[in-house]
Amino acid sequence: MKMTNDELMASLKTLLGRERDVMVEVLLHLGEVEARGLHLQLAYSSMHVYCVEALNFSEHQAFERMTAARALRKFGVIADVMRDGALHLSGLAMLAPHLTDGNHEALIAKARFQSKRAIEVIVASMKPEAPKPDRVKPIVPRIKALGPALVEGFMSFAPAAPAPAKAPVEPRFAISFSASQRVKEKLDRARALASHRVPSQQLEAVFELALDALIEKLEKQREGAATKPRPQPTPTPATLHSRTIPRAVRREVHQRDKHQCTFTHDGRRCTERAFLELHHLHAFALGGPTTTQNLTLRCRAHNAYEGERLQL
Ligand SMILES: [Zn+2]
Repeated sequence: MKMTNDELMASLKTLLGRERDVMVEVLLHLGEVEARGLHLQLAYSSMHVYCVEALNFSEHQAFERMTAARALRKFGVIADVMRDGALHLSGLAMLAPHLTDGNHEALIAKARFQSKRAIEVIVASMKPEAPKPDRVKPIVPRIKALGPALVEGFMSFAPAAPAPAKAPVEPRFAISFSASQRVKEKLDRARALASHRVPSQQLEAVFELALDALIEKLEKQREGAATKPRPQPTPTPATLHSRTIPRAVRREVHQRDKHQCTFTHDGRRCTERAFLELHHLHAFALGGPTTTQNLTLRCRAHNAYEGERLQL
């Protein structure tokens, strides 16, 4: 790099200006892709999934950029503030949920050239009661605080102790969230009721029991998974042409489609497994029957997308 120091610093400044311009353009493009629903067409259930899987953003980058992209689409004035370098991406992502038609100009002005920490304070002062965000964080085990030599030295003092078996370490997670008084009371009640099964009263064990019960209940509801499969009734004209989908049909469709959205584009299948809905391939409104063959699983986004397409 054959530059003088002054040239180097000037060049860096120019590059950063260009980087901000490009960033704003990227955000505007992301907003437009979302508005046109192009990610849905390409078999991604959300822009977040599209950003992570197709654009290779990290989860955090995807979250920040999409939050910023939506704010930018809504409040055009932000674009120039970002181009000037007066508001960084992280700052905008923090402010975005609090921006309204009425306050965005004042809030953006307050956040100009502020650090991430200072913007955190601005946001916190707006909503002092803002709940702590939910967190699920892997716990990284501390690997041998003592070096191997020291450990060996230590071991030699205790020859009687058998060498501990090298059991694979199960990953652990720290999970935290804030909860209302109502939820706290339910937790206390569940803990008390489960005390015979969880004598330790450990929260983890109580939560696992609660989740098992919830999963079993929801799976039954969603898939119509009867504990004892009943003999399947022969479809009558009444069931074929009813919007109510029989449990057995529901279960069959879920199992056949492997509990995943079946929307496909160019050989890529949507990966969504949450909020699945049953979709009539041949539209119900146009006389499509309620049968396993005519039903398929769609995520909420793709079900809505196809519903809109049908109305075009
Ligand atoms: Zn989908």
